[in-house]
Amino acid sequence: MKRFLHVILSEAKNLYDYLRDPSLSLRVTYLALLIVTASALLITQQVQAQSGIEMQSTAVYQFGEQITFVAQVVSPVQIQQANIVIFDEAQAVTNVQAVQFSDGRSEYRLDLHQTRVQPFTTIRWYYELTLSDGSVQQSDSYSIDYDDNRFAWQKLEAGSLRVFWVQGDAAFGQAALNAAQSGLQNINKLMPVDLAQPVDIFIYAKQNDLTALGVETWAAGHANPALGVVLVVIEPGASQSLSMEQRIPHELMHVMLYRQIGAGYRQLPAWLNEGVATLAEINPNADYDRVLLDASNRNGLIRMADLCASFPADSAQAFLAYAEARSFVTYLRDTYGVPALLNLARTYTQGVDCENGAQRSLGISLSQLESTWREKSLGQNVWGVAFRNMLPYLVLLGLLILVPLMVGMNATRQKADKHGPEKYTNKR
Ligand SMILES: [Zn+2]
Repeated sequence: MKRFLHVILSEAKNLYDYLRDPSLSLRVTYLALLIVTASALLITQQVQAQSGIEMQSTAVYQFGEQITFVAQVVSPVQIQQANIVIFDEAQAVTNVQAVQFSDGRSEYRLDLHQTRVQPFTTIRWYYELTLSDGSVQQSDSYSIDYDDNRFAWQKLEAGSLRVFWVQGDAAFGQAALNAAQSGLQNINKLMPVDLAQPVDIFIYAKQNDLTALGVETWAAGHANPALGVVLVVIEPGASQSLSMEQRIPHELMHVMLYRQIGAGYRQLPAWLNEGVATLAEINPNADYDRVLLDASNRNGLIRMADLCASFPADSAQAFLAYAEARSFVTYLRDTYGVPALLNLARTYTQGVDCENGAQRSLGISLSQLESTWREKSLGQNVWGVAFRNMLPYLVLLGLLILVPLMVGMNATRQKADKHGPEKYTNKR
């Protein structure tokens, strides 16, 4: 449309020049040009109007099992070859599959055991048709919301926050909404809360229901920050409030952090992303400190460099990883300030590696930061730790020095023995 207006405007100017120009030949030329341009525009409009293939398409799904895409071509066309192009916005995955049309109808089944699709995402698709004349036409695009419809969700909302839950009464939903709002207040101490887009919190009653979605067996929560979707497990019961106040704010922080730093979020070191998320937890798990100190005392801490890409699969090690990340990020916040934490995250979004992100943003390498944190927050004696870490090498060095020395001493002793020297020399 912009181009169209541009052409009209430039032609209007030409027309103005034409009216002022006394030369007849020039007038004829402009008139001809004007007619050609106008008809070309009309032809283009007609071609565009003809390019759409008339088609109806729908999809039905069985959650976690399959999605069936059905299409019916309404226009009378001969299809030589056809593809369906499916994309899941959450993962930006594009799936192109050849499909068959017979009598203008096509049915394609996507196996969700093979292709994992995030729940609560919008699935879009269109068809690419090669017609008998060789021309390639693209259909309109269609979409469905792929929701976890295994359960009858109850719903409560306040502004941009929406809470959905399976088990529990209205008070359960209200408590979850309150936990979310308190969590946002906590988050606001670290970064601005962005609720321009809604946030949907889905509360599952059983761990298995979440694990079935491909989430780690030890994870009681999962966030899909790009979608603004949070999934948590909270069993209704005596400890429900405690679980809500830990898990909901934690996952909300992932969403808010994403909204602050954008798609580069995926480049964040796991220790930073998870460490920041734990800071949002209300009444954080008391076991964090116990497990952390215990690991520190037995020299069993996981190095930060090993918590860059992901957290361990083993549940006990994963818990220790959270405890370390929380303590480490708390140390960074208290030492460098809150804005520095967000700056550090932004540095990592530029694709800087784990060690150098800290260097570039805070002027100190990750390993140096880690030593200082261990010393200041965990009371470790850095020299003692260094000594312990070097112990195997020191033992090796000792052996390398001692063995020749002892052999040498033995040789000297044997030299002193009148019957021995030749025998020993011969051996060499
Ligand atoms: Zn997390």
